[in-house]
Amino acid sequence: MQPVVIEGGHVIDAATGLDGNFDVLVRHGLVEAIEAPGAFRSAGDVRRVDASGKWVMPGCVDLHVHLREPGEEWKETVQTGAEAAVLGGYTAICCMPNTKPANDSAEITRYILEKARAAGAARVLPIGAVSMERKGKNLAPYSELAKAGCVAFSDDGDPVADAGLMRRALEWCLMLGLPIACHEEDRNLSCGGCMNESPLSLRMGLKGFPGVAEDVMIARDIELARFTKGKVHICHVSTARGVDLIRRAKNDGIEITCEVAPHHLLLNEESVVGYDTNCKMMPPLKASEDVKGLFAGLADGTIDAIASDHAPHDRDSKQVEFSRATVGILGLQTSLPLAVEMCLAGAISRTRMVDLLCSGPARAFGLPYGTLRPGSAADVVVLDPRREWLFSEESIRSKSKNSPFLGRKLVGATQHVFVGGKQVVADGGLVADLLK
Ligand SMILES: [Zn+2]
Repeated sequence: MQPVVIEGGHVIDAATGLDGNFDVLVRHGLVEAIEAPGAFRSAGDVRRVDASGKWVMPGCVDLHVHLREPGEEWKETVQTGAEAAVLGGYTAICCMPNTKPANDSAEITRYILEKARAAGAARVLPIGAVSMERKGKNLAPYSELAKAGCVAFSDDGDPVADAGLMRRALEWCLMLGLPIACHEEDRNLSCGGCMNESPLSLRMGLKGFPGVAEDVMIARDIELARFTKGKVHICHVSTARGVDLIRRAKNDGIEITCEVAPHHLLLNEESVVGYDTNCKMMPPLKASEDVKGLFAGLADGTIDAIASDHAPHDRDSKQVEFSRATVGILGLQTSLPLAVEMCLAGAISRTRMVDLLCSGPARAFGLPYGTLRPGSAADVVVLDPRREWLFSEESIRSKSKNSPFLGRKLVGATQHVFVGGKQVVADGGLVADLLK
């Protein structure tokens, strides 16, 4: 691979505190050096990538992605997901184990990793199941899964209802140093509710899902983390109370991290008014008080990461009445532009944005990515922060098209993306032969 100099751009790296004009030298798949503009002018035999007027940041790391392979390849494959990822600025994605069959064995983990290697796009980091078949009864073989390449464990899609099982899972995973990513929902409280429980759900005649269904499980897992010293990661926190609980747990020194999804920040329960099933997700969109609490968590550092919760579904799963529709939306190609939107609106600083998308998630799962520190893997995004574009079905690389952001004007477009020094996106499009 020919060395590359990315020159003239504004480098932002939250992990090292860089925020200014620098040139980046990439060699042997690694970031070799970052120096003042022009420092590599005399370097011979390098390819030069012009980044003037652009932001140069680490590749984004997504802690929460649903690839539908094996089992539901018509919704998404490892390949289409990994390609959508790099187009959206994600160079590493952690994929949830709720495939069919579930990723509860080294064999499935290896199958996913083989597909990812063949795709040659984003790094795909499998998450293993907490329980066999995700049924919440028997522990999955964590060391076998970790050895095969799993970076965390989760039964996401479903909560781990049994506190005793959760305790033992935390104790095992602590020995491996890996976190458990928790989908927090007490099903005795959520009772199949399909939107936030509020005066609006009553008016709309839809069964409500009360925020407390999430809060009680967050509280339980905080106490289990305190008791076992295990690592708990709270998936898609959506309530103000949930953020408060996590803030206090962190102040108590408990090993806990959390993520928020862009849709919980930029949409709210009012988005459901037209019964658009692309606004049906789990946890459901909340009222503005909760959204305010999430932004407070972004501002004070309680929230570690923005994660897409990319959940592809076919038309048949969504073109039904609201109460029967499947939950979840796409996220890989919209999360970074939506974060740029929040940044340009002044809700978060540029460095905080990069922290939430890159170094924060890497820290939460202990991954060696999300930074441009010399010596680290050259996963780099060159982003045009001013370019506006219309998000349409044609722009979607995923096999599914379920997004409430269709038709929205997004700001911020990925121009060039490198994974381990290999260019996978050039001039905003996938590099034709990713295997070369
Ligand atoms: Zn979930």
